[in-house]
Amino acid sequence: MNIHEYQAKALLRSYGAPVSDGRIVLRAEDAKTAAGALDGPLWVVKAQIHAGGRGKGSFKEADAGEKGGVRLARSVEEAEAEAKRMLGRTLVTHQTGPAGKRVNRIYIEDGSGIERELYLALLVDRGSSRVSYVCSTEGGMDIEEVAARTPEKILSFAVDPATGYQPFHGRRIAFALELEGKQVKQCVALMGLLYRMFLERDMEMLEINPLIVTDSGDLKCLDAKMGFDSNAMFRQHEIAELRDETEEDPKELEASKYDLNYIALDGEIGCMVNGAGLAMATMDIIKLYGAEPANFLDVGGGATKEKVTEAFKIITSDPQVKGILVNIFGGIMRCDVIAEGVVAAVKEVGLKVPLVVRLEGTNVEKGKEIINTSGLDVIAADNLKDGAQKIVKAVKG
Ligand code: GDP
Ligand code: MN
Repeated sequence: MNIHEYQAKALLRSYGAPVSDGRIVLRAEDAKTAAGALDGPLWVVKAQIHAGGRGKGSFKEADAGEKGGVRLARSVEEAEAEAKRMLGRTLVTHQTGPAGKRVNRIYIEDGSGIERELYLALLVDRGSSRVSYVCSTEGGMDIEEVAARTPEKILSFAVDPATGYQPFHGRRIAFALELEGKQVKQCVALMGLLYRMFLERDMEMLEINPLIVTDSGDLKCLDAKMGFDSNAMFRQHEIAELRDETEEDPKELEASKYDLNYIALDGEIGCMVNGAGLAMATMDIIKLYGAEPANFLDVGGGATKEKVTEAFKIITSDPQVKGILVNIFGGIMRCDVIAEGVVAAVKEVGLKVPLVVRLEGTNVEKGKEIINTSGLDVIAADNLKDGAQKIVKAVKG
């Protein structure tokens, strides 16, 4: 689960991390008061969306002008005008995809004078199964680009959970970031509190890009991106409260209501599969035969007819879907339940694209009979390979 920059900064502040003072604006008429509550003489007006690259992004609407989603202002009036320009418009960045994201919240911040822009992240390194730091002197830009062009400018290391964070970790980062004097002490303190926050709040990812050295020589978190482990929300009520459903893919949101493991993708073939491993294998084999999956979907072991019906509805609601492959290996999941769900869903929403069904396992004969006697225009497949070839052929013609 992700949260907005302004929420992440409030959390940082509560742990004692250095961040600028700021105000959140939800309605254009509140922008002036919000800006007026800050000292100036510099204001930063920042579109709040769950995506990075806002500064270099652009708005879809012509009346929002050519400027991006992070703007400096020299007066309260200018800050107000920038906020009004962004609110309600659609910001497109390299992370949002071409559809962009509607800006419903604006953060107005006290502007900082910048000496240097640095990069810092904490993440769970799957390889070592440990929390890792990533830092670089090249802040303010895409870390992927730094990694591709000048990988030697990135330092990354894992923390041993047996010792936890130690001051030498912080000094190692300070040295790599070429910090001086009081900045080293600030860095050691900041890295320690970030590590504690990361563990206490069940984070998956924390990115501060840029972490800056201000014109007065102090460290400050100028941007903040946080991702949390969704499976930990049962014990992270304060974080769960920060969820902004308008930022989520509507199909994924719908799926989460039915406890379906669904992730929307860019391809043209909708997949309904049971088991995460089989779902991934199905996506792989669709790619192997020259098409792209439109989603990942694991309906799970104990899916009911209702759950399968909802899953099928979510897949068919995606205009990108040009064909559907149902691939079920019934172990705990029974093939007849899947078949009933598919038939019920098609009867409800209709079927406008080719549908290939491959069933195997528990109650497979009963499942096939339900499909065959349903009157649906279904292409039957015998195995995974056959199913993938048939759906790709049906879609690509
Ligand atoms: P992003 O584009 O979504 O990553 O948004 P950021 O919050 O990282 O802002 C983008 C860029 O705007 C930063 O890299 C800075 O160069 C600039 N910026 C943001 N806040 C300030 C500020 O307080 N003062 C100054 N001078 N520049 C800022
Ligand atoms: Mn940034």
